[in-house]
Amino acid sequence: MLYEMRPDKQSPAHETGLCAELVCSNSLKSKRLDTASGLLKAECKLLGCRLLPIAEGVQVPAGQALAVDREAFAQAVSSELESHPKITIIRDEFTTFPQTPCILATGPLTSDAMMQSLRELIGDQHLYFFDAIAPIVSRDSLNFEKIYRKDRYDKGDADYLNCPFEKEDYLRFVEALIEGEKHQAHEFEDVFFASVKFSFYENCMPVEEIARRGVDTLRHGVLKPMGLEDPRTGRKPYAVLQLRTENKDLSAYNLVGCQTMLRYPEQRKIFRLIPGLEDAEFLRYGSIHRNSYLNAPQVFNQDLSLKAASNIWIAGQLSGVEGYMESIASGLLIARIILGDLSSLPATSILGSLWQRMTDSTSALFQPVNANFGLLPGLENAPRDKKQKKEQLSERSLTDLSKIFHKPIHL
Ligand SMILES: Cc1cc2nc3c(=O)[nH]c(=O)nc-3n(C[C@H](O)[C@H](O)[C@H](O)COP(=O)(O)OP(=O)(O)OC[C@H]3O[C@@H](n4cnc5c(N)ncnc54)[C@H](O)[C@@H]3O)c2cc1C
Repeated sequence: MLYEMRPDKQSPAHETGLCAELVCSNSLKSKRLDTASGLLKAECKLLGCRLLPIAEGVQVPAGQALAVDREAFAQAVSSELESHPKITIIRDEFTTFPQTPCILATGPLTSDAMMQSLRELIGDQHLYFFDAIAPIVSRDSLNFEKIYRKDRYDKGDADYLNCPFEKEDYLRFVEALIEGEKHQAHEFEDVFFASVKFSFYENCMPVEEIARRGVDTLRHGVLKPMGLEDPRTGRKPYAVLQLRTENKDLSAYNLVGCQTMLRYPEQRKIFRLIPGLEDAEFLRYGSIHRNSYLNAPQVFNQDLSLKAASNIWIAGQLSGVEGYMESIASGLLIARIILGDLSSLPATSILGSLWQRMTDSTSALFQPVNANFGLLPGLENAPRDKKQKKEQLSERSLTDLSKIFHKPIHL
């Protein structure tokens, strides 16, 4: 039985009653194997993904990306579900949990009644409603002639990387943040930003909004240089942006406090003004939007079912992945786990690393994950050329996966 509350009850972003309605972009991102998104698609094909062939059947020209005619895609998925002999679609809101096995994939805009049931089951502290995501850059692209390693007041193991600003750099950066072009917020996101103004979600405040409060606000806040003297000179910089590691491999770092509504090209331009990030490669861009999701590592069993009720699996964006393709992948993974033909995946694959990320209870702060090469362990003898390196990471993943599935790789 597949419950879908639309069309009678719409989410704030959906418009039709069709299954698999894409609410924003019509792109499932790149098909190329030198991109993490392309690799994820290839991995999903190895696991027998049924949605990708449907998407390919209705694709529209979009260069190297797999973009679809959104209506044809939703129609095709809906009719496949409707005509399936073992699936019954029930057009109703699902509000309470059954005792029988159940996959919950109600997405970033899960209905209020369902959120209430989840709250009662797993506790308020493990439910998140908004994403405030800072950009992530690759370690390889950082300039270590400017950047230095140090924890504030040397409390810790010098895990942070620090980008020191001179006064002129700082002023240029603040001005660029204020002038940068922003994404248009959806109507329901305006409600969120109204509450931000009342300091309700203060730690989700976009960095450009903080900059707008006054020229020194950032350097008295998230960019404060206190306790971060440059060990090479002993000097305290005018301001410091810290980079925090994203993975055990230390190959990806996020820009602390730089959650942002800036458009992607603006992020590329403006964050490269930060000393040491002049050639930064962005593995993920920053964003802020309404997004209901769980603190997966704290509430999931190893098989991605809930600790509080092991007959319930959470799939899609609600499980803490981010993006159309990642949501498809998470559902596929759970289907395979429930069918009993999967108990682990190599950490060298995007799927394996997403799985690991969602169950690693040692991670201090869980934020939604999208496919990126920073999730994967580094290569031995990695080539210097970035494209070659990514191709080799993809090759390694598919080779490791094909050993498990005993299938040759057809791409
Ligand atoms: C405004 C917005 C824009 C986005 N833009 C992009 C983008 O451009 N690219 C991208 O990759 N990702 C984007 N995302 C993220 C995107 O939503 C997810 O990547 C993906 O759609 C999540 O898939 P899902 O199956 O988990 O959830 P959804 O696709 O949202 O599907 C969840 C389904 O559950 C139904 N539902 C909810 N609650 C209940 C209930 N209680 N009972 C019954 N049915 C219920 C909903 O009607 C919906 O059909 C966007 C998200 C939002 C909110």
